[in-house]
Amino acid sequence: MMEQAGRQIELLEMSAPANFPYNYSCGKIGSFFFKKLRDEKKIYGRKCPRCKKVYIPPRPVCGPCFAPTDEWVEVGPGGVLECFTVVFFGFLDPMTGKKRPVPYGYGLIRLDHADSRIQHFLSENDPKKLRVGMRMEAVFNQEREGKLSDIKWFQPVE
Ligand SMILES: [Zn+2]
Repeated sequence: MMEQAGRQIELLEMSAPANFPYNYSCGKIGSFFFKKLRDEKKIYGRKCPRCKKVYIPPRPVCGPCFAPTDEWVEVGPGGVLECFTVVFFGFLDPMTGKKRPVPYGYGLIRLDHADSRIQHFLSENDPKKLRVGMRMEAVFNQEREGKLSDIKWFQPVE
């Protein structure tokens, strides 16, 4: 109930699913990055001309220096697992809208020649078989669309 102009008004509630599909430009840097993933199965970062840090995913500007990045650097596909978790609690995957099968591994990987980390799924979901510092390698999907999910996951390298 709500009072308006001295009268009680009954307010009803209703629910309905809302769907807001939209497309947006990846921009010059995002387009280059995603085309390389899709067409060549290669991962590129952007290098800052001042501090020389290589960012992945690529950034147009270095945050600490405020300098525009100006060079593409191929990174990975190997790297080091810097932290991880294994998810046992099922929830809806925002990328697909479907319940993601559990358990699954998820981690931060610092790719070779990169100074920042990329977060992604891991092929391994047994916490006893994962450790910080272990070598990982990107595994690409057979069919790719120009999305970060073109990398299926990172798998441990023996
Ligand atoms: Zn910098």
